[in-house]
Amino acid sequence: MAAQDAATILVVEDEVAQLETLRYNLEKEGFRVVAADDGEEGVLVAREEMPDLVVLDWMLPTLSGIEVCRRLKSSSETSDIPVIMLTARGEESDRVRGLEIGADDYVVKPYSMGELIARIRARLRKTRPSAVGKTLAFEDISIDTEQHRATRADKPLKLGPTEFRLLTVFMERPKRVWSRDSLLDRVWGMDADVDLRTVDVHVGRLRKVLNSDGARDLIRTVRGAGYSLDSDA
Ligand code: CA
Repeated sequence: MAAQDAATILVVEDEVAQLETLRYNLEKEGFRVVAADDGEEGVLVAREEMPDLVVLDWMLPTLSGIEVCRRLKSSSETSDIPVIMLTARGEESDRVRGLEIGADDYVVKPYSMGELIARIRARLRKTRPSAVGKTLAFEDISIDTEQHRATRADKPLKLGPTEFRLLTVFMERPKRVWSRDSLLDRVWGMDADVDLRTVDVHVGRLRKVLNSDGARDLIRTVRGAGYSLDSDA
């Protein structure tokens, strides 16, 4: 079942089997799916539902995919909705035309579901980042970078903004050893006028919050090298 803030995807596809496969896979990914099986209806449903993204088949009854795309892109209400077109293999000129009239991306049939979902997520990351959600997990620590929430053993961690960014950097690449310099660049920015000892201070604070409740220390201090998030800390 789709979450409450799930992105809505309109699928315009006249082949029932294809439509149902798409619906099944997109819903499994947590999206809300609305559908239309011809071009006219596609335009109507888009205006009614204002989806976060449209997956649009090229060959459609009543109005072609390209005409649907043109109408969506030329109306101020719907012009910002990203459109991914499903095109037939080898029709290079069609693809160029699709992009010319404003389609945001295209996938060639027969496409892999994984590829299509990756393209959808890439688009939504720009327009609806919260709907794509970014959760990182390591051991019993988990963070949601979109919602700015961190937990350890399902208990919320009270982190300051710097500690949160520090933890995000560690969580993105567990076990990697970060020098103080590289942490400084990543967390404070290249131009920051910050003393290297500041890094130690914030790592210390992060460690304290993570280890409250007497939890196992997962931040490893690598003498002369820096810090890492590691189960063998
Ligand atoms: Ca079709």
